[in-house]
Amino acid sequence: MSTIKGSVGKGGQNNPLDVEIIQKLLNRNIGLLSPLRLLKVDRRVGPQTINAIEVFQRRVVGMQRPDGRVDPNGKTIRKLAAQAQPALEQWTGDSRKWSEEKKLQSLNAQFRPKVSTLLNALRLRGFQPKLFYGWRSVAVQQELYKKGRSKVRFSFHNAQAPSGVPNAYAADIIDKRYAWSESEETQKFWKALGEEAKKAGLYWGGDWVNFKDWAHVQFYPNSALQRVKQESGL
Ligand SMILES: [Zn+2]
Repeated sequence: MSTIKGSVGKGGQNNPLDVEIIQKLLNRNIGLLSPLRLLKVDRRVGPQTINAIEVFQRRVVGMQRPDGRVDPNGKTIRKLAAQAQPALEQWTGDSRKWSEEKKLQSLNAQFRPKVSTLLNALRLRGFQPKLFYGWRSVAVQQELYKKGRSKVRFSFHNAQAPSGVPNAYAADIIDKRYAWSESEETQKFWKALGEEAKKAGLYWGGDWVNFKDWAHVQFYPNSALQRVKQESGL
């Protein structure tokens, strides 16, 4: 079952990873909280998250005086988790450190076979491709944006089902021997990545005009970003 290490909500400890779990659980239960809308899973507790906890406590837990706080092993977390898919909690943590298999699983089901094809094609050409990022959270995206490593606050890497289950439409692929180093070998790898990505019907970040995102491939053209963001409930 879902576990949190500290309390989340009004006056809670609000550790970011715990907040993420609660926001996703609330979204899983959003049908019970009408007319509330899906919460942004941003790992931060604000008025909307607290309000959603209170509505859930009043309606589902049956508390007459909701306190707006979810405690570890308390009644609220038990009720929240009872309704939710056990699959959700496995998607927390640093998605860069997930296994390759798990990173593949974090991709959209139509995008995933194309990425597998791409990885195999690169291996056949003698490269050692590594899926560096499949899905990543909006919180991680904000960090990358602040550091100038990404140009967007929401990317196809962040796409998810409204429940919070990853559904990424982008992947970052490097050769594990070279990563982003500047060498002739790296250039050869990027070129091969671009060629094979296009053969697989994908869009390649090396084709961007203003910001070369060499390792990046995606399923849709950039014009689809707003639609994917909306479909993600973000
Ligand atoms: Zn990327």
